[in-house]
Amino acid sequence: MIEFSVTVLGSGSAIPTSKQNPSSQLVTYNNNRYLIDCGEGTQMQMIKHKVRHSHLDNVFISHLHGDHFYGLIGLLNSFHLMRREKPLHLFAPKDLEKVIEVHLEVSNTTLYYPLIFHPLEDYDDQPLLDNDQIKISCFPLKHSIPVWGFLFKENELKRRLDKTFVEKYSPDFQQMADIKNGADFLSPDGELLSNESITLPPKPARSFAYCSDTAYLQSTGTYAKGVDLLYHESTFDNGMEALAKKTLHSTAVDAARVAKEAGAGKLMLGHYSARFQEDLNRLLNEAKEVFPNSILSREGETYFL
Ligand SMILES: [Zn+2]
Ligand SMILES: [Zn+2]
Repeated sequence: MIEFSVTVLGSGSAIPTSKQNPSSQLVTYNNNRYLIDCGEGTQMQMIKHKVRHSHLDNVFISHLHGDHFYGLIGLLNSFHLMRREKPLHLFAPKDLEKVIEVHLEVSNTTLYYPLIFHPLEDYDDQPLLDNDQIKISCFPLKHSIPVWGFLFKENELKRRLDKTFVEKYSPDFQQMADIKNGADFLSPDGELLSNESITLPPKPARSFAYCSDTAYLQSTGTYAKGVDLLYHESTFDNGMEALAKKTLHSTAVDAARVAKEAGAGKLMLGHYSARFQEDLNRLLNEAKEVFPNSILSREGETYFL
């Protein structure tokens, strides 16, 4: 099965602590890596958890609060010092381009590689990226400044070869590739076997949605409909509902409501306020009451879809 996974590099909110780094996650799909948010310390987290950044050509920044992008300049500079030559695509709110320009200007740096900036404001319905493997799109969330969620959707997979057919006819490599692409098969005794009769339906396409930072929002359930894994921020617990509303963040119960409305397979919590770092189970238990298949995001852990 093609790898589709999410590695958590930072799980905390706002101010880093000795146990929690600011937001960052790395999505891997078939050896390609996609970085979502890049809070302070993201590079160090990659080094600590032995996360490689080869095949990392696309970075996505959800919004311009510091805990989601203060690590980016360092990462861009490291790529420069490593003499990266491949283009790097950056999908982010438009104002980030000015921030990067200032940094490069004052340090008199001309990046060794092309940095291609894609303002999220320019995307509406069309995907940010659509290759032959995966489609990535963004959707609006609700926060004190503009913020976008990201949806990673695997493309429809091909039909699978039926083992009984393979054992009986031992097709060669080329024939197997043709059959996977929809071809029928002519048996040695001249019988034409239809593609449907020698293949099984494809496995369902997998999907992952990233939602941070945001207040509870009904539309998220629609954008993230049927995702296998939903990452939704849960900065606060139930007792802090008023503060969540005021700061346009979510409680664990808000996150669970969204997961339920989306019909998600699994909910992953994160963006924890520092006050919960000693006891994250409190957030988990609150979420589980509404959406039982909830888990905590843990830094350094990889979650497979
Ligand atoms: Zn944040
Ligand atoms: Zn924020």
